[in-house]
Amino acid sequence: LRCCTAAGCLSAGSDQVKKQLDQAVAELGLADQVEVRGVGCLRLCSQGPLVHVDPANELYQKVTPENARQLLERVRGGKPPLEQADLQHPFFTRQLPIVLANSGVVDPERIESYIAADGYRALHDAVIEMEPREVIEAIMASGLRGRGGAGFPTGLKWSTVAKSPGPRKYVVCNADEGDPGAFMDRSVLESDPHSVLEGMAIAAYAVGAEQGFIYVRAEYPLAIRRLRLAIEQARRLGILGSGIFGSPLNFNVELRIGAGAFVCGEETALMASIEGRRGTPRPRPPFPAESGLWGCPTLINNVETFANVPAIIRNGADWFARIGTEKSKGTKVFALAGKVKNTGLIEVPMGTTLRTIVEEMGGGAPGGARIKAVQTGGPSGGCIPAELMDVEVDYESLTRLGSIMGSGGMIVMDETTDMVDVARFFMEFCKDESCGKCIPCRAGTVQMHGLLTRILEGRATARDLALLEELCDMVKHTSLCGLGQTAPNPVLSTLRFFRHEYERRLKPER
Ligand code: SF4
Repeated sequence: LRCCTAAGCLSAGSDQVKKQLDQAVAELGLADQVEVRGVGCLRLCSQGPLVHVDPANELYQKVTPENARQLLERVRGGKPPLEQADLQHPFFTRQLPIVLANSGVVDPERIESYIAADGYRALHDAVIEMEPREVIEAIMASGLRGRGGAGFPTGLKWSTVAKSPGPRKYVVCNADEGDPGAFMDRSVLESDPHSVLEGMAIAAYAVGAEQGFIYVRAEYPLAIRRLRLAIEQARRLGILGSGIFGSPLNFNVELRIGAGAFVCGEETALMASIEGRRGTPRPRPPFPAESGLWGCPTLINNVETFANVPAIIRNGADWFARIGTEKSKGTKVFALAGKVKNTGLIEVPMGTTLRTIVEEMGGGAPGGARIKAVQTGGPSGGCIPAELMDVEVDYESLTRLGSIMGSGGMIVMDETTDMVDVARFFMEFCKDESCGKCIPCRAGTVQMHGLLTRILEGRATARDLALLEELCDMVKHTSLCGLGQTAPNPVLSTLRFFRHEYERRLKPER
């Protein structure tokens, strides 16, 4: 019995469900027949607590501590009278798990469970059978691009760090996921922390680094606890430390806990925070690959990027490059949320259409409501109207529509959603999270938020709307970092596709 113990199901009481199952197995003397395994996310977060029964391949949803014991009837061939999820639904059948392959399968608190699922084989093969140059070539040939949002080619970044001279080199995992509605990275860390450590260790071997940091937000206590445990277990088995697998690779990983500033997801701010300084961005160049932590070459990738690496080394670059579109290879994990029936985690090949994700996999809006738009990319992204949902989800296509892939937050909006209100919500977020270092973002987000409020309250004129558009342009082109440069995106995309919702609120000029 695989019982989900990721944050979503835990918040619905899965710890008590697991406790009941453990007790029942002991009381009924079934320990030689049944293993109750705490696992990571089983994907269908809205229906938790979830328990998967093997080998019957059945997924039970909304299991409670009171009815959990009935699952054990399955051992005797009985049919538990509990609610079952339809594993033939496109929500499951359309998924192609690479990053999430171990999620819901391995016990994230036991390294043995990860190793039994082929874990750390890629690291072993890389350090024993490959030159660092060959590892970088494999990542380049795979076409993997950074999953944190910008989509920079991962192999190119690794190669720059490898070539950059410096007394020391660092590998940093950006786990400062902060977009409203996004929980992909948290789930990967809670469900399969060793895959991220393995990806980081392979990167360290490739670029010549000996020290790694994972910068994870304090709001993710379960992810932090499991990461600590994973690091400890890997050290104990000699998978982190000196002479890994008898090779010359020495690599250690430490955690750094972020205090919740959204801007610390920006890589130069993140590095400042790791160094113990205030987390504010600085101009680039120099780029971290050349001059990062303490002035040394530093490789920064996000959680999902590192989690892809072991599978690429195990299965080969060609295997990965065959998945996805011409320019966007592999899969992408999305946190599907908002006005959609099946909320949860999905991993689909790049190039899957938005309609497939939202209507087929997500099951459309609850109560038969009409879907109006889908927001991708969080506060840096944009709203794509329902008419354009046939777009294939990849880096370039979403950018053409004024949105971005971002790290993978996907919020569905139905016909009741007010798009000006959505734009103001994201602007309020950016205003609050602006670090204040540069004037366009510090003052511009406040002014834009004020104008959006005036429009929402029916106090604005056409001149205010023109001023809002002018400010969007100015803030986008003159802000120092990505936060300010992308803060206008939700306004610009709603203006592009839902302009009438702004204009109908304007009062005549006096
Ligand atoms: Fe800070 Fe905003 Fe300027 Fe970025 S754009 S440095 S968040 S004030």
